[in-house]
Amino acid sequence: MSELADRLHQVDERIAGAARAAGRDLSDITRIVVTKFQPVSMIRELHGLGVRDFGENRHQEAAEKASEGSGLDLTWHFVGQLQSKKARQALGYARVVHSVDRESLIAALAGEHPVVDCFVQLNLTDDPNRGGVRPDEAPRMAELVAGADGLRLIGVMAVAPLGVDPRRAFARVRETSDRVRAIVPEADRISAGMSGDFWEAVESGATHLRIGTAITGNRPDPA
Ligand SMILES: *Cc1c(COP(=O)(O)O)cnc(C)c1O
Repeated sequence: MSELADRLHQVDERIAGAARAAGRDLSDITRIVVTKFQPVSMIRELHGLGVRDFGENRHQEAAEKASEGSGLDLTWHFVGQLQSKKARQALGYARVVHSVDRESLIAALAGEHPVVDCFVQLNLTDDPNRGGVRPDEAPRMAELVAGADGLRLIGVMAVAPLGVDPRRAFARVRETSDRVRAIVPEADRISAGMSGDFWEAVESGATHLRIGTAITGNRPDPA
């Protein structure tokens, strides 16, 4: 088994273990492999190993990879901050946008195109420059997404802040998800959990895990 196959297998075993421990159905959990900075050759290898859901956080890089991998049946998840002026272009490949966090972006994404699944991103830090809305703003943002043409709100997304117990962070995400679902009942998905905290995320109800280095190995330095 290649090292990549080995790491993928180990992560999937841990996800299955976390789901079992939490009494959750594994089929409710989507494991996205975040391949930012990794070459297309790795995406092909992961595809060969059965991976179909890929995450990228920069438009230019994502567009290039999606174009090179267009013969494969891949689902692209956009997980990074998205500039409004790049939003329409990102819809050329992204079927899911995890980082909706402002009205101008909703307006840029909305339109007559195949329906795009959206998460409202939460900012759990005190730094307003981080992507995401404050949790108390999430219900209003959710309502705007749900009301926009061509967008389907499916839930909330968050990154657990460094130096904080991820269980506490994910509990806040869970609470916010409940408030959003009170307004948009079908938006019941939670995108949370990365290489270092996906076990806790599964315990806390995450349905979409965004896992990079635990599967890909270290990222090459950005050029
Ligand atoms: C890079 C990234 C990930 C994956 O991070 P790892 O720690 O490598 O698993 C997940 N979510 C977002 C938004 C990212 O930018």
